[in-house]
Amino acid sequence: MPMVIDGKAISTQMKEELKQKVADRKAQGIEITLAVIQVGKDPASSVYVGNKKKACEYIGIRSLAFELEEETTEQELLSLIGQLNERADVNGILVQLPLPAHIDEDKVIAAIHPAKDVDGFHPQSVGTLCIGQPGFVSCTPAGIIQLLKRSGIEIAGKECVVIGRSNIVGKPMALLLLRENGTVTVAHSRTRDLKEVTKRADILIVAVGKPKMITKEYVKQGAVVIDVGIHREEGNRLCGDVDYEDVASVCHAITPVPGGVGPMTIAMLMHNCVESVKLQE
Ligand code: NAD
Repeated sequence: MPMVIDGKAISTQMKEELKQKVADRKAQGIEITLAVIQVGKDPASSVYVGNKKKACEYIGIRSLAFELEEETTEQELLSLIGQLNERADVNGILVQLPLPAHIDEDKVIAAIHPAKDVDGFHPQSVGTLCIGQPGFVSCTPAGIIQLLKRSGIEIAGKECVVIGRSNIVGKPMALLLLRENGTVTVAHSRTRDLKEVTKRADILIVAVGKPKMITKEYVKQGAVVIDVGIHREEGNRLCGDVDYEDVASVCHAITPVPGGVGPMTIAMLMHNCVESVKLQE
């Protein structure tokens, strides 16, 4: 049986550490505040926003909720972000994606002040990650690095393959693995002979967005497999992009879904909120 990388336990450990840091800041008279904006009532977004608020409460971060109507205009949203950028009592600003189709997401992301961009999606945050300067890093890939490190998995010198090249997972994931001295390959929908590429991986990160697509035929014996995908199967059960039972029979370590990457994303958001105070100082 492979080692199961327990994202729930690791994220709890991180949240306990952050709780202490938040308490230390409070003792210095600094209250950390996250503004969370949701436009419309997409049920999945409401669940994510609810979980983020709960995590804030747990570690002692103040959260301000802005629940806007579906019909909110782009200008209204940009104007709210402008006000929050100016507020000295707001450290982080998070706009829950996806936004309704009439709002340009790129424009909204770019409007958040880079020093408050706790999601790490702003072009400046992506740029600082790319050239190795301080800045916010997208929470899901940053959480995966923590999962690997805290599970004692060495990245330096390893063959790392990332399947997926999205701006929020695949690309920052590749940059982070590179920063950790991995030898990185990014595979995507136009990759020829995907299996041949993924079978080279010592560490395989799967962010392909297709339920159970990755079976043991894609995985080298003894590899570490990180499953970013989240899907609802028939009967409402959650599954990932990896066929867990099948891949578990060949790999050395694997993340489950649920309880793997998911909880780390929120823990890293909390980490970014705590770090935001330093960046603003
Ligand atoms: P996306 O749809 O933006 O990107 C998917 C990527 O997979 C694309 O770059 C595409 O080139 C590649 N791809 C698609 N089909 C392929 C194929 N047949 N072969 C090789 N590559 C292929 O998705 P995303 O936003 O990066 O998310 C990926 C998955 O991770 C989704 O299931 C999403 O729900 C999940 N996700 C989870 C978390 C979390 O916190 N656990 C966070 C973000 C995303």
